[in-house]
Amino acid sequence: MRIDKMLANLGYGSRKEVKQLLKSGAVKVDGVVLKDAKQHVDPENQTVTLNGEVIEYKEFIYLMMNKPPGVLSATEDNVGETVIDLLEIEDQVYEPFPVGRLDKDTEGLLLITNDGQLTHQLLSPKKHVPKTYFAVIDGEVTEEDIKAFAAGVTLDDGYLTKPGELKIMKSGIRSDIELTITEGKFHQVKRMFQAVGKRVVYLQRLSMGPLQLDETLELGEYRELSDEEVELLK
Ligand code: URA
Repeated sequence: MRIDKMLANLGYGSRKEVKQLLKSGAVKVDGVVLKDAKQHVDPENQTVTLNGEVIEYKEFIYLMMNKPPGVLSATEDNVGETVIDLLEIEDQVYEPFPVGRLDKDTEGLLLITNDGQLTHQLLSPKKHVPKTYFAVIDGEVTEEDIKAFAAGVTLDDGYLTKPGELKIMKSGIRSDIELTITEGKFHQVKRMFQAVGKRVVYLQRLSMGPLQLDETLELGEYRELSDEEVELLK
């Protein structure tokens, strides 16, 4: 890749600023000053330094966010705040996007990356990636609901869902449940409960495939995935 593109991608300035940086002799590749912005470098096999500091280049970024309520799972919005707005500027340089959508009021696990291939794999309906949600339901969730969800329920638009695994953690006028589904229809969890005459009053995603929400993350916080977590997802 071109040295100016690599440095600009990493947030060291615009292409123009990076050109100046190169001209100043601050950048070395394998110990040799590189001034020509058009030169190509191989960041995996060559050592690039800026003022003597080694620059780590990575093509992809993988972040796990504990999405807070009130924030949109989108890259940009004219009015509302998005999950991308919550990222540090350096992370935004990678031009990441959220993998799928959580409703504005939903909290919990949201993967944010710029790896289009992985995103496609995780969202493809053919892959049936399981997603587990914790929810508080207005109403008593019963064994009947477990059976109904296991068989699939018919949503308001006539769509029959794939089986969902419902677990009741606490049953009462308000019930705590966990639901695992392998699809991602619009408002799916809320509409599945609507189909059995109940209302979701709180929704949080706990996992997506092998990836679990890191409970040490406060709402709105995020961290990079470990190499192991990235491998598990692929
Ligand atoms: N199902 C919903 O209803 N909302 C979400 O945000 C995710 C799943």
